[in-house]
Amino acid sequence: MARKAFMIDTSRCTACRSCQVACKQWNKLPADSEINRGSYENPPQLTPHLYNKIEFIETEVNGEFKWLFLNKRCLHCGEAGCLKVCPSTGALFRTEEGLIGFDKDKCIGCNYCVNGCPFDVPRYDADNKITKCHGCLDRVGNGLQPACVKACPTGTLQFGARDKLIAQGKTSGRKLYGEKALSGLGAMYLLDNQPQDYKLADNPSIPTSIFLWKDVIKPLGILGFWGSVGVAMLHYVTVGPKQLDDDTEAKGGE
Ligand code: SF4
Ligand code: SF4
Ligand code: SF4
Repeated sequence: MARKAFMIDTSRCTACRSCQVACKQWNKLPADSEINRGSYENPPQLTPHLYNKIEFIETEVNGEFKWLFLNKRCLHCGEAGCLKVCPSTGALFRTEEGLIGFDKDKCIGCNYCVNGCPFDVPRYDADNKITKCHGCLDRVGNGLQPACVKACPTGTLQFGARDKLIAQGKTSGRKLYGEKALSGLGAMYLLDNQPQDYKLADNPSIPTSIFLWKDVIKPLGILGFWGSVGVAMLHYVTVGPKQLDDDTEAKGGE
């Protein structure tokens, strides 16, 4: 199946937060208890009960105050650090559409995916199980639009074939973020300003330590384990089983 993706046109967003509410409703997520921080932005970060949120970024353009609104969520990376580092098979997985889903029953709560994500997305619930945007895999798998996309009244959020969204985005004349980064993001942005103005990394990358763990240390560990098994078997075949000495037998095998 052709890869699907989100395209987020930041210039259209009015910060109405229908997307936040629709996501909570569809996923039956409870409200977060918050305090007034002197900003409309609330909560200030993604939480275990908030899979997408609007960031209110205060900036100045030609001496005038301006808000930039950014829908923050899992970006469903083509090369996903969370998926790469997860040691529990099936806890994180890629759907047919190319999105990154999760299975709480298989999550072992190691928190490795938090370190593997370049965008600070995964959160943990009260049971220490991963939570994040799963791309509405239950809706998308049944031919529906993701709940946040369906609820967005301004057309800021779009979902569909990734190559078509990219082609459309390129005709807009604005900066397209995420086409190539990390083998292509599954949620891309159309920006009027530079990525750093939206607190987005210019060249996001998976921390080097993740590659060391997954590609070097872990395979070496497995190699070491099977090497030990091989040596033990070789010893058994060539030398025979270990004989108990008199002293050990006298102690009853201790
Ligand atoms: S795609 Fe679904 S799970 Fe993800 S933010 Fe939108 S509504 Fe929430
Ligand atoms: S944004 Fe983070 S959690 Fe989402 S797919 Fe990429 S690495 Fe995983
Ligand atoms: S629903 Fe659309 S316009 Fe409203 S805050 Fe979300 S992305 Fe912005």
